[in-house]
Amino acid sequence: MRVLIVEDEPDLRDGLQRGLRGAGYAVDAVGDGHAAVGRCVHVPYDLVLLDLTLPGMDGLEVCDEIRRAEQPPLVLMLTARDAIEDRIGGLDAGADDYLVKPFDFGELLARMRALMRRETPSRPSVLASGDLTLDPATREVALAGRPVRLTAKEWSLLHYLLRHAGEVVSTEELLEHVWDDRVDPFTNTVRVQVGTLRKKIGPERIETVIGAGYRLVEAGAAPPSVSG
Ligand code: CA
Repeated sequence: MRVLIVEDEPDLRDGLQRGLRGAGYAVDAVGDGHAAVGRCVHVPYDLVLLDLTLPGMDGLEVCDEIRRAEQPPLVLMLTARDAIEDRIGGLDAGADDYLVKPFDFGELLARMRALMRRETPSRPSVLASGDLTLDPATREVALAGRPVRLTAKEWSLLHYLLRHAGEVVSTEELLEHVWDDRVDPFTNTVRVQVGTLRKKIGPERIETVIGAGYRLVEAGAAPPSVSG
């Protein structure tokens, strides 16, 4: 889950970035609307935390721009103005939810989790592959009904793999969605994290596809039939 913070107030921006990284999200941050629009062209963010009042291009214009993307990010608007007409304007521009400043950090995390669940209405809210389950709302992971303790990064990695279960996911794609700007693109961090995740959920569940990436597979799935 990769998040972009768009906030011109440096203390709030830095505080949010630290807090959300601590909560396991990959988080980038910018201070103005033009930079936000530029970043969203290049990075497939899952969610944008967007301040309404920004210098130059305001939050509503930014929202309008970034929602034109083929796969637009979720937008959670942050606003000091709680006037109802602003809320309606924001909704028209395509924001998915609002939070009025000052807000409680726990409330922000709860809203983000709620949006994540809403993100895939056609799918069950609990993601599963065989007897491995992950609940985005509670962040609980279980293997055959028994809880599995994952680090924040392992959790994000598994969440992404489960959302793309059965598909080959490249290292570059994982770096884009699960890591943020701090990561060195030449690092082996993906391989290392896949390794630690394998130890916790069973090595056979994450297949290495040579030269292509990784694939989450159902453990114990029957091999292709060769009868005949
Ligand atoms: Ca502002």
